[in-house]
Amino acid sequence: MKSWVEPMSDTLFAKIVSGEIPSEFIYEDEHCVAINDINPQAPTHVLVIPRKAIPKLSDAKPEDQALLGHLMLAVGKIAEQLGITDAFRVVVNNGADAGQTVFHLHLHIIAGRRFSEGQLARGFD
Ligand code: AMP
Repeated sequence: MKSWVEPMSDTLFAKIVSGEIPSEFIYEDEHCVAINDINPQAPTHVLVIPRKAIPKLSDAKPEDQALLGHLMLAVGKIAEQLGITDAFRVVVNNGADAGQTVFHLHLHIIAGRRFSEGQLARGFD
């Protein structure tokens, strides 16, 4: 019988991480990969995707603490690699109502355009 919950390995990002769907990794290490977003919201829009499939940030467990820290440090390395350490924004959409469309945790790194203060919630209905 088919479960109503899709296995986590079926997500688009699980397939990208595993290589089943070919994608150019602009960065990769033991725990994560980074790709350019297919629909960039700014001149630089990179997705940092852990190899481990955690559907969303709020599903992370205490044993994921080191991985979450690793992702943050990877963001810094990727920003340096891209020459954008001066200004970038990191976004994690958690849940459909927050705009999450792919249920495999990922961090957006967005840069190359000026972000205004106090505009974090723009785009909410
Ligand atoms: P989110 O809405 O936070 O779940 O982010 C999912 C992101 O994945 C969106 O910004 C999409 O543009 C991006 N995306 C969807 N399919 C692909 C793909 N094949 N390669 C790269 N980025 C993708």
